[in-house]
Amino acid sequence: MSASGATNGEPLILVVDDDPATRLMLRRALERDGYRVEEADDGAAALERYERIGPDLILMDAVMPGVDGFTACARLQRLPQGHLTPVLIITGLDDEESVNRAFESGASDYIQKPIRWAVLRRRVRRMLTESRAERHVNHLAYHDALTDLPNRRLFADQLEQRTDLARRKGQPLALLFLDLDRFKLVNDSLGHEMGDLLIQSVAQRLSGAVRKSDIVGRLGGDEFTVIVEGVTSAQDAALIAQKLIDTLSEPFTLDSREIFVTASVGIALYPFDGDQSGTLLKNADTAMYRAKERGRNGYQFYTAEMSARAMERLALENNLRRALERDELLLHYQPQVRLDSGDLIGLEALVRWNHPDLGLVPPGEFIPLAEETGLIVPVGEWVLRQACRQARAWREAGRETLRVAVNLSGRQLRQQNLVEVIRQILEESDLPPGGLELELTESSIMHKDKLTISTLWALHEMGIRLSIDDFGTGYSNLGYLKRFPIDTLKIDRSFVRDITADPDDAAITTAIIAMAHNLKIDVVAEGVETEEQKAFLRERGCDAIQGFLIGRPMPAESWPGAPGAPGGSASAPVHGRAGTRGR
Ligand code: C2E
Ligand code: MG
Ligand code: MG
Repeated sequence: MSASGATNGEPLILVVDDDPATRLMLRRALERDGYRVEEADDGAAALERYERIGPDLILMDAVMPGVDGFTACARLQRLPQGHLTPVLIITGLDDEESVNRAFESGASDYIQKPIRWAVLRRRVRRMLTESRAERHVNHLAYHDALTDLPNRRLFADQLEQRTDLARRKGQPLALLFLDLDRFKLVNDSLGHEMGDLLIQSVAQRLSGAVRKSDIVGRLGGDEFTVIVEGVTSAQDAALIAQKLIDTLSEPFTLDSREIFVTASVGIALYPFDGDQSGTLLKNADTAMYRAKERGRNGYQFYTAEMSARAMERLALENNLRRALERDELLLHYQPQVRLDSGDLIGLEALVRWNHPDLGLVPPGEFIPLAEETGLIVPVGEWVLRQACRQARAWREAGRETLRVAVNLSGRQLRQQNLVEVIRQILEESDLPPGGLELELTESSIMHKDKLTISTLWALHEMGIRLSIDDFGTGYSNLGYLKRFPIDTLKIDRSFVRDITADPDDAAITTAIIAMAHNLKIDVVAEGVETEEQKAFLRERGCDAIQGFLIGRPMPAESWPGAPGAPGGSASAPVHGRAGTRGR
């Protein structure tokens, strides 16, 4: 990267001038003195070249079209190592102001046009010598003399920079703190020279075991630290820690003697174990001590379980965000059938995530997270739009009264513009509001805040049907249902499961059906899996059922009337027209 030119061969000088003739003359003069020369024709090009070739010195014209010399010089100071590369400004302007500007922008010196070649050559030589000395001192100040790794000071700087970057990118970062086990024993028994040799070999192995972009530092003694970027799970960090431990497990041959060492590693993860570099370092250190306590030769997370879970969630969240963009979400539909006629009255849309690695992820694994992070709003909108389009397609295929039911989370219900969003989606898909049913949970409408109540009424007045999902698992308070415009109540499948065996569940279910009918509310039983359950429910007057007995959630193509579905009935579990119970 930059500022490396000095290390291989003759000093490399970047000549920046918009005038090709001046560049040519400078090139001649400098090459005659044995320097290597590269050119750029304005400030922007100069910065771009700088990053690629890492010159030892820059000769920069002050006045150029585009990015001028002063500006380029000022920007250079902000690039990595940029301040270590001397800039000689060539100015045609001998006024005091431009001289001041040159120094203010970070230039090391200036020279005036017309160029006096002898002065130029002397100045270039002096600047190169000074800068080499400066770089050497700089290197010594920031590197460990024994291993040449970044020392505590540089490492702390780097850690701070990388944490800032991780914060901006919203990405995690792992800090590994490694300490050799019983190093003191080596020092005491074999002498300090052997100890030093061992530290050097350890440094080499560690550097060789990580990626080039990872940073290995030596804090002192037998303590090493590693910054690992781009970890996507706690597992990633653990693998790297294990790799470091493994790489030290081969014996070291020092002075024709075999030495065995082991190491303990502590892991702290940004942002879970600290969002400041100092905290991370402290926590990685603490974790390392815990690894020692646990018997050495192993690694420990600062907060094991919590970090692992938090990391997985962060990864899932990032992936889910992308899932929307990459079209990885899809809907399955599950039929609802009337018990008296056997008519198919509607289909519930159930979202799935077709994850590239994990396959079809069920909603239970990402909807709660989407609710917490607010991602449910765009996800829910996508579901609504998709489901309404599908309902429209079914209608066009002759299923005029088929309804689509869409689950709405509490967070969506408290969204200011929900009514507007839904109105728009219905319009777009040309679906009459009666073709849409929204499934709400008891807890989301129990909020009873003004917004929720007015939203519910607005949706109802539009002609959209509202149902209470998973009824019986929450407050199960039928009284409050009176105050809301509810059309349907879905008895949770946990009651349905045992209705034929458990008298309590049978009694509750019977009571729910009777009370709902009193309030002119339809009842749908969820999770019906057996004929016995179906018979029981029919006997108690339940209006409709949904469950594996009738059909599992399936892609739209599997259901009747769907465009592309063979005959629209071959795969259909039920036929006939839908009928609804009036309110
Ligand atoms: P839910 O709304 O109560 O949906 C019914 C769930 O029960 C579905 O699980 C369905 O596959 C399952 N199920 C249906 N019949 C049977 C049966 O006979 N036996 C058994 N054991 N299970 C049955 P799924 O698809 O995993 O969905 C789970 C929950 O995720 C849904 O429960 C709903 O609360 C939520 N969900 C699904 N899609 C969405 C969505 O688009 N938005 C929101 N906010 N939530 C969604
Ligand atoms: Mg539902
Ligand atoms: Mg349900």
